[in-house]
Amino acid sequence: MKKRIFNFSAGPAILPEEVLLQAQEDFYSYKDSGMSVMEMSHRSKVYDEIFTGAQKDLKTLLGAGDDYTVLFLQGGATLQFSMIPMNLMPPINKADYINTGAWSKKAIAEAKRVGAVNVAASSADQNFSYIPKEFKFDPEAAYVHFTSNNTIFGTQFRNEPEVGNVPLVCDASSDMLHKPIDMNKYAILYGGAQKNIGPAGVTVVVIRKDMIERSNDDLHAYMNYKTHAEADSMYNTPTTFGVYMCGLVFKHILNKGGVEAMYANNVKKAGLLYDFMDESDYYKPTAAKEDRSLMNVTYRLPNEDLEKKFIAEATENGFSGLKGHRSVGGIRASIYNAFPTEGVAALVEFMKDFKAKN
Ligand code: PMP
Repeated sequence: MKKRIFNFSAGPAILPEEVLLQAQEDFYSYKDSGMSVMEMSHRSKVYDEIFTGAQKDLKTLLGAGDDYTVLFLQGGATLQFSMIPMNLMPPINKADYINTGAWSKKAIAEAKRVGAVNVAASSADQNFSYIPKEFKFDPEAAYVHFTSNNTIFGTQFRNEPEVGNVPLVCDASSDMLHKPIDMNKYAILYGGAQKNIGPAGVTVVVIRKDMIERSNDDLHAYMNYKTHAEADSMYNTPTTFGVYMCGLVFKHILNKGGVEAMYANNVKKAGLLYDFMDESDYYKPTAAKEDRSLMNVTYRLPNEDLEKKFIAEATENGFSGLKGHRSVGGIRASIYNAFPTEGVAALVEFMKDFKAKN
């Protein structure tokens, strides 16, 4: 088998090895269908089983009941930044947003095209290094939007904000399925698949059915949740192969013990890195301790020259994707569900060694 390296990419990101091998086995001819999943009609019986199986398994993993619909759409989380306000804001035409970084800001910018945005809290004052704890919510808002994990700044909500009866909408692009959540608290949970769920191209939208009723028929059909819900995500050709891959990941997580098992492992993995750094005066995590992300571990070295050297030497040693986002610099180790514990332990050893030599 070909060699694989430790891939710390923020997304598209590492997928479980078992899933890749299964896809390899299925690739040329899926089960006894005589064709690749890529070559199948999305309306065929074989494909229908793949698609509805993925929807069902995702609902099981999330604990989502019959009052939720799973949509597999396209356009990334980015298109949802527009679809959410277009579908959910009217007729109230105002919504609450929590600003915790670059992705929240993009969501806010699109919402402002539709109606009034109340920024209920923001951590912009300290360069998004923490999660706000106090919120000024408007009880009449159409919904509250937040970003559960801030991929760039390495911060993460420990708990959902308490929003009372106002529908809660969450961009969970970079931490969906990393731990058990109470799905009943969410009106919409969405994200691009390319971190914890599967390949880029699939957008997961788990939506409570009463939210779908809000959509106005004047919307362009493709922008309307009702269109996609009524067509069961097949209004047009879905990303057939992508959803198949997501389905394999869902089955893999279920086989590994579900989101509970993912969480236990994620706490352990992130703990290895943070505990080591807390004892070091050399590596400094950028996020406030209580708000540190289990998915994206962001940190700095004593200066930028050392950071460059660190990334170069790490790459030579088989650790890929450690460069921080271009907008913030520093180091970012993305350690999603599929990232192996051995890889984190190996990085800690490399960091010890690098510190000793530099
Ligand atoms: N939200 C978050 C939290 C993200 O991390 C990203 C992508 N890194 C996006 C939104 C944008 O997602 P997409 O590229 O799928 O549109």
